[in-house]
Amino acid sequence: MPVLRDPSSLRKWRQQLRGSLAFVPTMGHLHAGHLALLRLAQARAEQVLVSIYVNPLQFGPGEDFSSYPRSVEEDLRKLAEAGCTSVFVPSDQDLYPLGATEQTRVVPPLALSDILCGVQRPGHFSGVATIVLKLLHLAEPDILVLGEKDYQQFRIVQQMLSDFDLATQLLCGPTERDTDGLALSSRNSRLSPEQRVIAPQLATELRKLCQLPANSLALPAAQETGERLQAAGFVLDYLELRDSTTLQTINNTRSGARWFAAARLGAVRLIDNMVIP
Ligand code: AMP
Repeated sequence: MPVLRDPSSLRKWRQQLRGSLAFVPTMGHLHAGHLALLRLAQARAEQVLVSIYVNPLQFGPGEDFSSYPRSVEEDLRKLAEAGCTSVFVPSDQDLYPLGATEQTRVVPPLALSDILCGVQRPGHFSGVATIVLKLLHLAEPDILVLGEKDYQQFRIVQQMLSDFDLATQLLCGPTERDTDGLALSSRNSRLSPEQRVIAPQLATELRKLCQLPANSLALPAAQETGERLQAAGFVLDYLELRDSTTLQTINNTRSGARWFAAARLGAVRLIDNMVIP
């Protein structure tokens, strides 16, 4: 499995590649959720490229860029074992030679990006869209595979592909969860044993919200659930019902609408979302 360390090696590799290519961008510290996306990619294309890059552009000041878990050697072993065709592991210098602040950025529509995670993380989705666009230009994949776990990110990238007339097909892989329901995330490794016991309650409460009768009022339900989560030890950033396409708020529960939550346990910020069946 070739490990491509800079954009020119990636371009050379891409030029000689035969067959369809699916691309799975990640920030590494790989878990079963990432590997499920890899399997989805393998089922849809002949070749699969995974990138491992902790993108400084999508972290704000005071966020966990420097403490984000990194384990590249172990990640490479997992990817080779899973039959990944090739891996792109660029450096900051390679991707942002003039420095991140001098980089031209993609500005996603505010209606999608200044809500939910965009409130606590201004500029985050601009950083995400920028790196995804750069990686798409470098890798030229037929298919891009993202996870439903980061649903707001999925919608923003989907919109960018459409708005910039990119031909890449976008696939969304379902959220992989631990047996207790906690959505797998690289950041889970930073939970203390006590926090790890509390963490699955976020998913449990989202599942309960999804089971409310149709046309229930969302706001009181969210408030009640939020109080339970805070009592359990979470600091809630948001808990909201929104439309799965426009991401605009919805007052009453209905099939296809989606509950979104972000909550912190100590320094670890967890996000999750579930669609009403
Ligand atoms: P990350 O490394 O956290 O940036 O995630 C890389 C990709 O994996 C993104 O498309 C995420 O949405 C996706 N992903 C993260 N966690 C999960 C999960 N538990 N299940 C499925 N996909 C996931």
